[in-house]
Amino acid sequence: MTDPEYAIEAIGLEKVYRASGKLPEMRALKGIDLKIKRGSMFGLLGPNGAGKSTFINILAGLVTKTSGTAKIWGLDIDKHPRSSRAAIGVVNQEITMDPFFTPLQALELQAGYYGVPKAERRSMEILTAVGLDDKKDAYVRQLSGGMKRRLMVAKALVHNPPVLILDEPTAGVDVELRRSLWAYVRELHANGTTIILTTHYLEEAEELCDEIAIISHGEVLAQEPTPQLLSRLDQRLLKITPREPLSAIPESLAQLNAELSDDGVLNITFRSSETGIGRLLERVREAGISVADLATEQPNLEDVFVAMTTETA
Ligand code: ADP
Ligand code: MG
Repeated sequence: MTDPEYAIEAIGLEKVYRASGKLPEMRALKGIDLKIKRGSMFGLLGPNGAGKSTFINILAGLVTKTSGTAKIWGLDIDKHPRSSRAAIGVVNQEITMDPFFTPLQALELQAGYYGVPKAERRSMEILTAVGLDDKKDAYVRQLSGGMKRRLMVAKALVHNPPVLILDEPTAGVDVELRRSLWAYVRELHANGTTIILTTHYLEEAEELCDEIAIISHGEVLAQEPTPQLLSRLDQRLLKITPREPLSAIPESLAQLNAELSDDGVLNITFRSSETGIGRLLERVREAGISVADLATEQPNLEDVFVAMTTETA
């Protein structure tokens, strides 16, 4: 088949987890529409509980959807359960692996599971790529957390899928490993693999992804190329510590979105696309305030969600 325009296409995807034991019924996905272009490096960004893993697990065949449709590499997951899943490699959020196999055995088993003929297997090549070649014969239980994570990435790649999905791959991973993992993922992407990753860190999605969808409470709030999304989220906070404590915000600054905090810091919220820090500082000085210290803050994910939800409300 010819390469599809979209690596993933979900329409109206819903998931209701039935109540069980003490857990009430949970509408984890409330009609997800998401198209992820072939060749993209796509970030699915949302806070804990947003539904990211549910979405991924439906694609992976680990969770049964309640309604809606999904296509992987142009193949409907209901009509073509096997071939659609052969098009993705999924690295799950939880580390799961059999402690009694060596990395090499684990990869060979996985390749067998996907029906990759012996002659076409690349187990050693993949182990080398993720930096585990010297651990090929170690028992998995002897590997560090970071090594296990890398082995999971390796396992997801044995059948050479055109789409690699990573569900919160940096959770519990140290900085060093994070860097090498991303370097490898970038390399895969450069060689044509479509990459989808979930994260609750805006910075991570911002740094890695060319397109980002924001998901919250089972709904997609936005899907845009990263630069566009960021420019819409250009709210900044300028924190000014005056040399002399202020009793009130000066009259001349009344038009600014300024607040005086209990600890005497003047907080000015502004849009970086509209005002520069230089111009703001000028106005502060013109108001007779002598600046002892200043800092700026970018919005965190919570602010982003608030901005998005109030915009659509
Ligand atoms: P995320 O990956 O974005 O953190 P999840 O998809 O794991 O979100 O969870 C979405 C919601 O569904 C959460 O409220 C979570 O508690 C609930 N949930 C996830 N898995 C199950 C399950 N197996 N049974 C019941 N509720 C679940
Ligand atoms: Mg999750």
